[in-house]
Amino acid sequence: MKVAIHSLGCKVNTFEAQQMTDSFLKKGYEIVPFTETADIYIINTCSVTNIADHKSRQMLHRARALNPNAIVVAAGCYANTRSREELLGEDVDIVVLNEEKKDIIEIIDKYREEHKKEEAAIEAPVLSEGLSPVSEYGKTRLFFKVQDGCNAFCSYCIIPYARGRIKSPPVEEILRLAGDFADRGYREFVLTGIHLSSYGLDRPESGETLITLIERLSGLKGVERIRLGSLEPKIITEDFVARLSQIPEFCPHFHLSLQSGSDSVLKRMNRHYTTEEYYKSVTLLREAFGSPAITTDVIVGFPGETEEEFEESRAFIEKVRFYETHVFKYSRRQGTAADRMDGQLTNAQKAAREKVLLQLTAKRKRQFEDSFIDAAPVEVLFEEGSQGYTREYVRVQCPSADIPEGAILKGKITGRLNNDIMEFVPNSGCSE
Ligand code: SF4
Repeated sequence: MKVAIHSLGCKVNTFEAQQMTDSFLKKGYEIVPFTETADIYIINTCSVTNIADHKSRQMLHRARALNPNAIVVAAGCYANTRSREELLGEDVDIVVLNEEKKDIIEIIDKYREEHKKEEAAIEAPVLSEGLSPVSEYGKTRLFFKVQDGCNAFCSYCIIPYARGRIKSPPVEEILRLAGDFADRGYREFVLTGIHLSSYGLDRPESGETLITLIERLSGLKGVERIRLGSLEPKIITEDFVARLSQIPEFCPHFHLSLQSGSDSVLKRMNRHYTTEEYYKSVTLLREAFGSPAITTDVIVGFPGETEEEFEESRAFIEKVRFYETHVFKYSRRQGTAADRMDGQLTNAQKAAREKVLLQLTAKRKRQFEDSFIDAAPVEVLFEEGSQGYTREYVRVQCPSADIPEGAILKGKITGRLNNDIMEFVPNSGCSE
């Protein structure tokens, strides 16, 4: 039985697709690329913007076109925000909500039981002998979802409605699972969540928070690197930073959600910080970590964003000197407060502002990466093709050697190979 999985959207979705892949492999299913003919297509959908909705629908139709007899599954956020009837009308066979993803195989099995006709056309599952999920899908870096849901209700976002309120599993459960993955060869754990900063806050009696989770995880055998997904700036307190800086496995790479560098826009977005507070967080990080990678997301063309507000935002982004800024044009989401706001901008206005910020971020990305050339040694975790990432998430390659996936080497960045990749020479020379 061949299964093809296509995931859209955020790191949480990527992680959940990885979990589904592992579950199917364990049950003896064969995972094939999405472009191939499969018996089951799973589209792990996203609904963060109208464009994401559109892409989710497109992929559902593509799956049906690839094999009209296949079982087409709509899983995730787009499915959560639509009625089952609407989705089944779109030629989807099975709807799997976010909270049902862990049971996806049972749901599919039940569907197949009830549809014996299709069953006859599908091969029985074959256990792929000797297939190890880790070697077959060899990865060194694991996106590890530790939190779901959000209570923040930013005025532009549908996620709290689609994913519900914050929830997070106890540390012990996470450590048990992390231990399994570490035993399977994963070396870097990227902790992700819809609102990662809220880890543990749904269980205040436990005393568990994101920092206690990171501290406990760092003590686990085989966990050599810990990286964090998107954080809210307000979590960056003196205590948080002081404790993080004591953890050798922690990678100094912070994705601090900004969304706008204009205080009046932040207020309309219902974000609960000011640019002054944000800048204080950045300063704390730089004092503790020297030159950490600080990346962010910014929305341009939020309803009512004036030229002055956009200029404030641009100037603030320039002042912070981010490593990377992911720029998004505001996209209306039905059911959100922002969708009902006056002063919606035209696409041309948004595109013009996007262009300005993209030019700024490209320049700054290059400057940050170039600052490593012939500077202090860096440590690289290698993935495929003798390429890997430094602890600051700078992509490097050792061009003249075949470095095995999973190797961690120290060395120097000696130059730039192209727009995205820096040249790396290990301390002992470029050989393994
Ligand atoms: S923090 Fe805001 S943008 Fe992020 S998921 Fe929650 S409501 Fe959405």
